[in-house]
Order: sequence, then C-alpha cells, then structure tokens
Amino acid sequence: MKQTVALVGNPNSGKTTLFNLLTGAKQHVGNWPGVTIEKKEGMFNYEEHEIKLVDLPGIYSMSTFSMEEIISRDFIMNEHPDLIINIVDGTNLERNLYLSLQLKELGLPMVIAINMIDELKNKHIDIDTKKLTKLLNTPVIGISAKNGEGVRDLVHSLIHETSTSEFKYDEVTEEHLNQIKKIVKEVKHDPTHEKFYAFKLLEDDELLIKQFNLNKEQLNRLNVIQESFKKSKSQNDIDMAAADTRYEVIENITKQCVTKEQNIKHITEKIDRLLLNKYLGIPMFFLILLVIFLITFGPIGEYFMGLIEGLIGIITENIIEILISLNTSNWLISLIEAIINGVGAILSFMPQIMLLFLFLSILEDSGYISRAAFLMDQLLRKIGLNGKAFIPMLMGLGCTVPALMATRVLETEDDKKMTMVLTPFMSCSARLPIYALIASVFFPKHKGLVIFSMYLLGLIVIIISGLILKKFVFKNSGSTFILELPPYRLPSLRNTVMHMWEKAKGFLTKAGTVILLGSIVLWLFTNFNFSLEMIDNPEESIIGVIGKAMTWIFIPTGFASWEAVISLITGFIAKESVVSSMAVVYGANTVTSLNQILMTKFTSVEAYAFMTFALLYSPCIAAVGTLYKESNSAKFTLKSVLFQSLVAWIAATLVNVIGSLLFM
Ligand code: GDP
Ligand code: MG
Repeated sequence: MKQTVALVGNPNSGKTTLFNLLTGAKQHVGNWPGVTIEKKEGMFNYEEHEIKLVDLPGIYSMSTFSMEEIISRDFIMNEHPDLIINIVDGTNLERNLYLSLQLKELGLPMVIAINMIDELKNKHIDIDTKKLTKLLNTPVIGISAKNGEGVRDLVHSLIHETSTSEFKYDEVTEEHLNQIKKIVKEVKHDPTHEKFYAFKLLEDDELLIKQFNLNKEQLNRLNVIQESFKKSKSQNDIDMAAADTRYEVIENITKQCVTKEQNIKHITEKIDRLLLNKYLGIPMFFLILLVIFLITFGPIGEYFMGLIEGLIGIITENIIEILISLNTSNWLISLIEAIINGVGAILSFMPQIMLLFLFLSILEDSGYISRAAFLMDQLLRKIGLNGKAFIPMLMGLGCTVPALMATRVLETEDDKKMTMVLTPFMSCSARLPIYALIASVFFPKHKGLVIFSMYLLGLIVIIISGLILKKFVFKNSGSTFILELPPYRLPSLRNTVMHMWEKAKGFLTKAGTVILLGSIVLWLFTNFNFSLEMIDNPEESIIGVIGKAMTWIFIPTGFASWEAVISLITGFIAKESVVSSMAVVYGANTVTSLNQILMTKFTSVEAYAFMTFALLYSPCIAAVGTLYKESNSAKFTLKSVLFQSLVAWIAATLVNVIGSLLFM
C-alpha cells in the first residue's frame, strides 16, 4: 500500500535527521532553525507499506507568517497527507506542544514522536510517554533521531496505531467551540478541519473571517460567543483568552508527564555565559574563526595540498610523455595541457576547502552557529539592520545559491531584497581557491590571516552598504528577530563526514564539468584570433583582444592586465574559474609554476586589490539566476549585480590607492 507521510514539527526539532535516517537521504541537517526551507520527499518501506515521506520546513504554529510556514501549512491542509508524524523536541516540550494541539484540532491522523530522548537522559529529564498518549489521545513514542532509538516503534505505531481521535479542551472551551462549529457548518459543508476553523474563529483570526465571508448575522453570533468566552476565562482580550486556554492545557500536561531532577546546571548555560558574554562574545566569535583559518591554511592543509599537487604533476608528466611518444600534434598536447592545468589548479585546493568545511560543520552541528547569529543580530540591530538577515548570510559561506533562497525567512519585502543584495558579499567557498592562491604567493607567512581578512572585509562591506541601502533604498526594513538558541550538542561524526563529503562531491563535479569545459573554451579563445587562425602570442588572441579592450576599467584598481581581466570575467561562470583561467592564460602547469608567474605580474598591493575585487563583484551566473527567480524582477537583478560590481571596483580601488600610499 502506498501512503504519504508528512513530518511536521518546530524548527530544529530533528525532522531532517529523522527523514535522513528513514529514507537514507542526505539532506542538510544543522543545529539552527531555518535550514529546511523547502519540502523534500523520500521513500522507505515498512512491511508491505510503501511510504513517501515529506520533510516540511519547521513551523511553530498553523498561523501563517513567513514563507516556510505557508509551505508547510498548505501541504498539511490542502494536500491531505495520509498520515502525520508530529516530531516534538523533548527538551522543549511546552513550546512544541502548541503545534501538536493545533494539529489535533485539524483532526489529522497522527502519531507524536518525542525526539532527543538521548539528550533528555543526559539531562536527567524523564517524559512519561504512556501518560502523554492517554492525555493527548494520540500515540506518543519517545525516539532519538540521532541514534535511531525508538524509531522502529515509531514506524510501527505510525502504520498500525495512528489516531484521529479528538483531543478535548476544558468543558467551557469545548462548549464555545461547539457553538462556533455551527457557524463553520453553515459556510463550509465539508466537515474536515472543523474544530481547527472553529478555534481560529474563536481567536478572531481576520484572514479566516475574510475567507469565510461571514454575513452580519453570523458575525454577531460569533461576537456574542467570543464575549462569553472572554468572560468565562476572565480575560479582556480574545487572543489572550485563546492562547491561555492552549497554554493551560500544555502546562497541565507537562506537569503530569515530565519529571526533572533538580539542581543540575545545564552545561549549555555555563558555556553560553562565556561565549555570549556582552563584551567577549563578538571578539571570541572572530577569534574562533581566525583559529579555524590559521589551521586550515597552515601546515596541515598545506601538507594535503602538496600531496594532491604532486599527484597531478605525475599524471600530467606521464600523459604528456605518452602523447609525445604517440606523435600527437602540438595543438592537441597544448589543449590537453590546458585542461589539466585548469582542472588541476582547482583540485589542489580541495583539501583546504574540505578542512574548512569540516570546521564549519562542527560549529554548525554543535549549536555555536546559532550563537554567532545571535551575536551578529545584536551587532546588526545596533546599526538598524535586521539580524535575521544573518542566517542567509551564514549559509552564504557555503554557496550563495541556497543562501539567496534562504532570504525567504525574512518577512518584509524590503528586508528580503536588501538581504539578497548583501548576501553575495559573504564569501562563498568557490572564492576560496582565489584567496588561497594569491595569499600563498604574496603573503606566504600570513596566509591564514590574509584569507580571514577577506571574510572580515565581506562582513564590513555588508554592514557599510547595508547602512547606505537602508538610508536611501530600502527604508522600510528592520523587523524584530526572535532567534532561539538550541542547546550545545556534540557534533555527530556521521553529519560532519556527510557535510564534508557533500562539499567534496560538489567540488569534484564542478571541476569535472564547468571548469573542464571552461578551460577548453578558454584555450580555444587564447589560441585563435578573430580570423580563426591559430596564433602563438596570446595577446593577439580573441581573449587577448577583448581583455585588452577592457583593461582601462581596472587601471585604478591596479591589476590592469588582460589576463587578470579575463580571469575575472570567467569567474562569472563559476568563481573557481578565476584560478583555473589564470592557470590557462598564464600557461602554468602546476600551482607552483603559477605562483612563480604571478609573482612577476602583480605587486602585493595589487594582488590584495584583486582578491578584494574577486570577493565582491557580481556573484556567479547560478547565483544571479537565483536572484532573478527569488525576486522575480529582471530590473532588480540587474541593479543588484551592477551595485555589487560597483562596490567591488570602489573597494579594490581604495585598497590599491591606500595600499600604494602605505607601502610604496
Ligand atoms: P529540523 O530543523 O527539524 O530539520 O532539525 P534537524 O534534523 O536539522 O536537527 C536539528 C539538530 O538537532 C541537529 O543538530 C541534529 O543533529 C540534532 N538532533 C536531531 N535529532 C536528535 C536526537 O535525537 N538527539 C540529539 N541529541 N540531537 C538530535
Ligand atoms: Mg530540517
């Protein structure tokens, strides 16, 4: 039998972890809210049941506020999944049960999974699932999505015990709800979700009232019921009366089912006292990042880089020798060399990128990234920017494309647009090879520091241009940001390795496709002129001529050679291409020889200006496409790309001018 099962729960409750465990998928799991922003589907089998599992974005309630909540709500209410697993973070029972109650009101067939029981055990908290089952009138199973405990029971219960039985509030509330149900029946003949709608009307939900198009008489009746409800709850405000009802139930339930051993100081609180310290928090955040960069670009990373480089060197030599012994024509040898140079230049940076992502993944999984967002929120808010924007920006450390998609977490249109313009300034991993290359040539003693400075620069540019944009363009931005801080958790090896592997795979794929193709095209353009004759002097080639026509733009930035310009242009296809293109246009067959060539082409100041430009200018074509898709406006997309490129040019010019004054 085929069935669709939806995973519904608060952000960060472990939905994706459970989804991956059950379906064997490798969706991104992160210890911070807002990671899953689109629904994902996967399959698994149990007994004779074929189950389609849908991982939905996290929601706190069934009221719609942001994009991800709308996605989840629409799926639950309109696509009628056969069954629902309501996953509940056991360490945060009160808040999570709010959603569970609403799901019960909807009358959906569901089971409740109390997740993180491993952590509850460590904290000496006990949740009585049997009692919960009785009180909620729904099967409740304790699980750990992380280590798999209880998951079999959960699936068994899902298939065999799922219940739609009603959860009853106190008598007074039920009475009022029953009266409102009559109104619901008059408008909507189909009884599904009746109780949910009744509660929404009781709460005076404007959207629903509008949608139901109640007539005057019905509105009057509703009003009378609401007044009587307020009175019986001794509240002046209908919202308060309704919320109070739910929370009273929740408090009552948790009182009966949760036992805590007293006097255990949470490690999380202790760590946070230090890491979230008013004065030390932000410096410590930067210190942690700095240490990561120093390690990544220090001896360990270099050692692995050397290994790969050596390997590529041997392969190249052998291939060329074989080709020569086969009497291969010179042009083919030159083409193959170009391919190996381009792809090889990229591959040798893979170990360092993987290392960096190993550290970032540990930070993310441990829960520290949420703290970083919290700290940055305080900083950004002081200057009037929306701190929530930092979530997509953090994702931008990986890749700008998903980061742009994550701007959906922002509520107002202005906030969203501003974040979309600023997020690409966050240095994505594809830009890393550029810094790694330049830094190792021009700043060998301070590699880690210089690369770290690029990330810092990105942040500074975000803040400055954010202030400017807010003043002149997006005046209506800035809403409040409630970020919850998850507890610290020991990062799981599985997750960490998975992240690293995903990164490596993405990198390899890109090297084998975009970079490879790019190197071939670039070779063609550097070896032929406009009359399509093969030439020796690349300056006369198609690329040389185009590049030279554009060099004047870069005179103020210091790196006005056609080779540099062409490398940057190819970076529009993929940022890694800047490095592979340099290898091709300078005809360097190893990173070492590329290093030597670059030494003669740039001064240190020009090199730093080049990195600055590479950090800030137009994001790659995939990101620009996403920008267009998310904003749905060609004009906005064009404007932001122009803005970013202009900022890049100004910043690079400043670096060049100030740097020349200081160091000449
Ligand atoms: P989602 O936002 O609901 O999809 O939550 P995720 O699956 O991304 O998980 C959020 C965080 O909780 C991650 O750091 C997970 O490693 C962690 N996590 C998930 N399930 C468990 C569990 O059973 N025990 C513990 N200790 N941590 C868990
Ligand atoms: Mg998720």
